[in-house]
Amino acid sequence: MKISGLMKMTLLDFPGQVACTVFTSGCNFRCPFCHNASLVLPERIMSEELSEADFFAFLEKRTGLLDGVCISGGEPLLQSDIADFIRKIKDRGFKVKLDTNGSVPNVLRALLDEGLLDYVAMDIKNTPEDYAETCGIDDPPVDLIQESVRILLSCAVPFEFRTTVVDELHDEEKMSTVAQWISGAQNYFLQDYTDSDNVIRKGYHSCSAQKMESIRKAVAEYVPSAKLRGI
Ligand code: SF4
Repeated sequence: MKISGLMKMTLLDFPGQVACTVFTSGCNFRCPFCHNASLVLPERIMSEELSEADFFAFLEKRTGLLDGVCISGGEPLLQSDIADFIRKIKDRGFKVKLDTNGSVPNVLRALLDEGLLDYVAMDIKNTPEDYAETCGIDDPPVDLIQESVRILLSCAVPFEFRTTVVDELHDEEKMSTVAQWISGAQNYFLQDYTDSDNVIRKGYHSCSAQKMESIRKAVAEYVPSAKLRGI
């Protein structure tokens, strides 16, 4: 496992659980609004990694203090030993939440089938037609992402879809199309973009509060559970 970062405690990342978050490095997308450029862009990835041994030494000291581990990225499902890593976490009695961009459905399905995941958060970047611009690569694997959506919609494990809403990339009509695509989702969160020095491409903007609310209303017609997050 390539672990590039560790947040020792979070009350926000894993719903209802006190958790730590490990950040894996490397991603197959280049979302311009990504806040984790130092985990995504090879030229910015920090050479210093946390070894698995050090991570598990940390985790064992947190037994009884933490409920779970969030695995975020980058894209964690690109790590060839992700299943083994999660088994080791579960063997120590911790729950696991996975953050994913949904582009590796065969691994997602295998982890779910083995009972290794307790919660999944999957990004929905935009409508299928707008995926390329929004995830920053020319030929995004939209069919694989659609397969991951189907897997989650039919699985028994709690999950959420989430979209980072960017003024230049999203509007009510597009988000209504997204909502029809993921209709049936038990949880859907709309997060307004916030600018930072660590984004992959500068020049994007957050939406007005009025636009976010109007998008939420458009989405709620098809996904009544849709909520704004962090606003
Ligand atoms: S926001 Fe995009 S580029 Fe950044 S880690 Fe997630 S999928 Fe990869």
